[in-house]
Amino acid sequence: MKCIKNLLKNKNVIIDLSNEIMDFVYPGDPNFYVNIFKFENFMVSEIRIGSHISTHVDYPKHVGLDNDSVVDIVVGNGFCVNIDNLEEFLSKKDIKNIDVLLIYTSISSLWGKEEYFERGVDIKDYLNDLLSLGIKAIGVDCASIGDYDVHRTLLSNGILIIENLTNLDVLVGKSFFFIGLPLKIKNIDGVPIRAVAIL
Ligand SMILES: [Zn+2]
Repeated sequence: MKCIKNLLKNKNVIIDLSNEIMDFVYPGDPNFYVNIFKFENFMVSEIRIGSHISTHVDYPKHVGLDNDSVVDIVVGNGFCVNIDNLEEFLSKKDIKNIDVLLIYTSISSLWGKEEYFERGVDIKDYLNDLLSLGIKAIGVDCASIGDYDVHRTLLSNGILIIENLTNLDVLVGKSFFFIGLPLKIKNIDGVPIRAVAIL
């Protein structure tokens, strides 16, 4: 694993992979709400969000499992594959040394529009191959990685899920160093995550 100090010293490019936290939530999820309080000359806001708002990590608790083995920083070697090439990518026998696999779907181009939530990915046929990669996390640039069974299979095998990523188009076919810092709230089903790729 590359040393973060060296990465920063070498002036590598940092790509922000997180969307803004805003009033754009999955149908049925809690709304985004900011209430501003003024106290003497200070302003302090109450912020109310759902745990799966914007770019976020799904923890095992999301599907009824316990979070005991969860790490609170997702860090490691990343690789990004286009969903159209996922089958071909997984058929290679020599994939190793990937901690975080990101799947580019292009659905992120619809972020902020209603159609965004109507589109999704189907990775059911690839689950066994994905599990054999030995990855720690998988991410997509759309609202969901799949149905309950897909979530449960990944999370019960120690793979965290990151959803609503952005800017994956610039990473397709590339290796990078991934850092994802979830809000430090323990024992929760999911939390917003600030994710970056260092190239
Ligand atoms: Zn989620």
